[in-house]
Amino acid sequence: MEERGIFRIFAYEMTTTMKDKKATFLTLGCKLNFAETSTLRDQLLAKGVTVAEKGERADICIVNTCSVTDMADQKCRQAIHRLTRENPGALTIVLGCYAQLKPEEISQFEGVDLVLGMEHKGDAVRYIERTITQKESLQPGESCHEAIAVPLREIRTFVPSCSCGDRTRYFLKVQDGCNYYCTYCTIPIARGRSRSGSVAQIVKQAEEVAEKGGKEIVLTGVNIGDFGAGTDETFFDLVKALDEVAGIERYRISSIEPNLLTDEIIAFCASSKKFMPHFHIPLQSGSDAVLRLMRRKYDTALFAPKIARIHELMPDAFIGVDVIVGTRGETDECFEEAYRFIESLDISQLHVFSYSERPGTKALEIDHKVDKATKHARSQRLLALSEEKRKAFYRRFVGEKRPVLWEQGKEGMPMQGFTDNYIRIELPLSKEQEGNAITSAQLGDFNADESALVAEVSF
Ligand code: SF4
Repeated sequence: MEERGIFRIFAYEMTTTMKDKKATFLTLGCKLNFAETSTLRDQLLAKGVTVAEKGERADICIVNTCSVTDMADQKCRQAIHRLTRENPGALTIVLGCYAQLKPEEISQFEGVDLVLGMEHKGDAVRYIERTITQKESLQPGESCHEAIAVPLREIRTFVPSCSCGDRTRYFLKVQDGCNYYCTYCTIPIARGRSRSGSVAQIVKQAEEVAEKGGKEIVLTGVNIGDFGAGTDETFFDLVKALDEVAGIERYRISSIEPNLLTDEIIAFCASSKKFMPHFHIPLQSGSDAVLRLMRRKYDTALFAPKIARIHELMPDAFIGVDVIVGTRGETDECFEEAYRFIESLDISQLHVFSYSERPGTKALEIDHKVDKATKHARSQRLLALSEEKRKAFYRRFVGEKRPVLWEQGKEGMPMQGFTDNYIRIELPLSKEQEGNAITSAQLGDFNADESALVAEVSF
């Protein structure tokens, strides 16, 4: 029986070291990273740190990195160099997936004081405080260049986090790491083995969101369907328990592996008033030959009936699907087969990613490579197909009334929000509406750039 990850909550009291210091935060990558940065920011604010205004020099720079593609690594390097250039002498801390994969290399970048790997990021505040003291003993302009990261097998701690994006929906981290090792993916190498909090701990966090007036929670993680791995708790247990939390009106499951989206979860979401008719399911390829090369845990014969089952129980459900184009082994025939399969699916939108060679992944052992131009052409075709499907899905609901959670307005911008089934809705500029409120809206036709439907009569 695999040991459950260690669930640790880090609490800190006010000390002199950090009081009145200004910090700036830069996050790259996924919702998980944003939730983790947001939690660290709250912990630093509790220590008396304030957030530097735009253009204001910071004393502390925090970069939470991503390493899902080569491009992501490059963007992280650029971000680190830009922040250290714009904030000379500031204490610079680098966290996240890139930090876990290349700690020594990043720690030698000019201006970097500390690189923290996955196992230590949860205790970042204590390390930041310690490094501030260390740096005080250095010459002006000198950096600590320290890296603290443990090998993959020693990553055990589940660090809870929850962030309030756009001041309307909360991203609640329920699981971290992954045991799947798909051949194209570095995430298991960067984030470690699958681990999660307990149902009771996650429910407590949801109750805290409700106390803050939050109405919508997005459950996020790396492989959230694997919640409770190595324990007697399951993702289904978590979903049922969260459904009971008073004050939260909406839950969305950010992304779930098709083989882990069980019929009982689909049926529960269909009967729940709180779990929205909205699913995000990674397919990655519509070709069984490519799915085998990816070592995915399902094939198209499992995937298609899942989509059909969702529509059977929730005919109005929005289904977003991830696809990667240009992976090694994706021949022309495989891509055409994949395209036909995806075209045949009754889904609402595609998230199309171009395959990127990642060091340390098994995909590098596959001979057949797809050139850049072909990758681009394939992703363009899928993006066009995605727009067709999204517009067709939106068009089905023109004229209908649906509940919309309105986001906080931005100056001079039309109010926006999302329906229960994830249709983006826009209010005419002349109309105002309280943010973070759910109201019924009559869905009108598309807005100018067809990115949303305009609400005709909303209250
Ligand atoms: S399920 Fe596969 S693609 Fe997703 S994080 Fe795990 S290894 Fe990566």
